[in-house]
Amino acid sequence: MKTVTLPSGERVPVFGMGTWYMGENRATRAEEIATLKLGLDLGATLIDTAEMYGEGLVEELIGEAIAGRRDEAFLVSKVYPNNASRQGAVAACERSLRRLRTDRLDLYLLHWRGDVPLAETMEAFMTLQQAGNIRHYGVSNLDLADMQELWSVPGGSDVQTDQMLYNLARRGIEWDLLPWLRERGVPVMAYSPIDHTKLVNNRKLADFARRHGMTPAQAALAWLLANDDIIVIPKSGRRERLKENLGALDIRLTLAQIAELDGLFPPPAGPRPLELI
Ligand code: NAP
Repeated sequence: MKTVTLPSGERVPVFGMGTWYMGENRATRAEEIATLKLGLDLGATLIDTAEMYGEGLVEELIGEAIAGRRDEAFLVSKVYPNNASRQGAVAACERSLRRLRTDRLDLYLLHWRGDVPLAETMEAFMTLQQAGNIRHYGVSNLDLADMQELWSVPGGSDVQTDQMLYNLARRGIEWDLLPWLRERGVPVMAYSPIDHTKLVNNRKLADFARRHGMTPAQAALAWLLANDDIIVIPKSGRRERLKENLGALDIRLTLAQIAELDGLFPPPAGPRPLELI
């Protein structure tokens, strides 16, 4: 499995498994668990979840899927912004650990920015790290202004990722956030990499994929994976689709194919703010 190096120096798989909306249906639960286990077998050992997903039900499902295999997984979970206070984050993390049936998270993220000051959340994360409850911490859905503020608070520049919406059809982070993170060696974890199924059903992408001998989901993922510092976390609760999606790792898009996709899904227009400085 290709890896991305976090600022800490640790290498994580470039392809992880999203889990939002798993565990909602009794009829599909066994297949979802089988999919997560297959992902571990195939090297997609990064599992992304959150206390929000199913209000803890998804963490419980993951706990079941990784039973006896905890050390193979790189577990990412997220704290609700309203739980991200000095004491609230510690309590929320303990609940997540219980549901996941583990003693540590590999990466704990602030799910999005809320009312708790960033400095307080970082303090909580550092406390959890010192106690061994989390190995690393990071953020999600923080824009450039938030990140700049984060860099000014103690512990803020030790974040390992900013997990953001990023896919062919949602390229907003290319405007200013992505270059800023790249300058600092902070990888993006791209969520909704197939735009929550919209890209699979996109006619332009389907046509591109057919002409180039891949599926639309593979094309969308291969486009992200053409970068060496973007982690993708597509969600599928079906083993066949997980295997299909993993096929994107075997696709190396040519410059001509990337240019064609840029034509179909244009990047944000105009000079980027950083280039104006
Ligand atoms: P996504 O991964 O872009 O799309 C998931 C959807 O696509 C599911 O409905 C899945 O259905 C379907 N799918 C997957 N592979 C497919 C394929 N090859 N062909 C057809 N359909 C396919 O969207 P996402 O779940 O929003 O994002 C991925 C993960 O990122 C989430 O699960 C979550 O872990 C994380 N996330 C984080 C945030 C945040 O705020 N930090 C926000 C959104 C998501 P099946 O399961 O039925 O295959």
